[in-house]
Amino acid sequence: MIRATEVARVGVVGAGTMGSGIAHVFGLAGCAVRLVDVDAAALERAHASIERNLSRQVGRELISGDDAEAALGRIRTDRNLVALEDAEVVVEAASEDPALKFRLFEELAARVGGETLLASNTSSISITRIAAHVGNPARVIGMHFMNPVPVMRLVEVIRGLETSDAATDLTLELCKRLSKTAVVANDFPGFVANRILMPMINEAVYCLMEGVADADAVDTVMKLGMNHPMGPLALADLIGLDTCHAIMRVLHAELGDSKYRPCPLLAKYVAAGRLGRKTGRGFYRYESG
Ligand code: NAD
Repeated sequence: MIRATEVARVGVVGAGTMGSGIAHVFGLAGCAVRLVDVDAAALERAHASIERNLSRQVGRELISGDDAEAALGRIRTDRNLVALEDAEVVVEAASEDPALKFRLFEELAARVGGETLLASNTSSISITRIAAHVGNPARVIGMHFMNPVPVMRLVEVIRGLETSDAATDLTLELCKRLSKTAVVANDFPGFVANRILMPMINEAVYCLMEGVADADAVDTVMKLGMNHPMGPLALADLIGLDTCHAIMRVLHAELGDSKYRPCPLLAKYVAAGRLGRKTGRGFYRYESG
């Protein structure tokens, strides 16, 4: 397998909250990035948000104006997976839907070279199950970035049952190249991050639904009482309520324990299209941009 320092072409599938951040950090690390989404509007929003976030980094003197311009110049958008044919590494960050990811990995395996590392940014879907849709499952791995990707240092690296040591080593080296700290976890529902985080968020929604306290009070307790930088409901809005709901459903279905049942109020907000920051309304309201 190729070495991380030699990786020049990276594909990112899905240009939402996470895909745009992943394209941003690979672009800054010097890779030519092809960012693919089926939705043209998502690609436009991703381009604008990458530009905005790069300028923010310039404003904070974390990178130079030249670095930002060069990174933006390395990121091209496309609506077709064909654009990823020559990628050495592909990170999939499409919506958290098992059927969609299985289909995407089948398509990716058919399009890219036999040695291409295929990583998924899934929050909860089994890497082993995703890899079963690829002829060579040894090259499939979880590369779970945190939100917002350019800011958060952690990447949870998840080994599926068949993931090779070579694929794991390449992924760990890539994380280093992106200046991220990697932690390796085995493939169990929710891995480490969401096995612990999502039940906490879900419980915060139960507190709201049962009238234990209002959203602001729940978040204030966790911020000032537990020293969390954000309250769980504000964090759910940042992550996306549809993503939180999808993860709880995976934990519930795959671990089979009723303690993971998704809160009905979370399901109701998702049904109403109140998905958090990305739609301007979740537990809180947001101005556009
Ligand atoms: P999002 O809803 O912001 O973006 C998903 C994007 O995928 C959309 O733009 C959609 O058009 C696109 N998409 C759907 N079908 C596609 C296809 N066939 N081909 C290409 N693109 C397609 O979601 P997100 O929050 O960016 O999450 C993406 C992934 O990252 C999910 O697996 C999620 O669980 C994971 N994740 C999310 C967070 C978070 O905080 N939001 C954190 C870590 C991991």
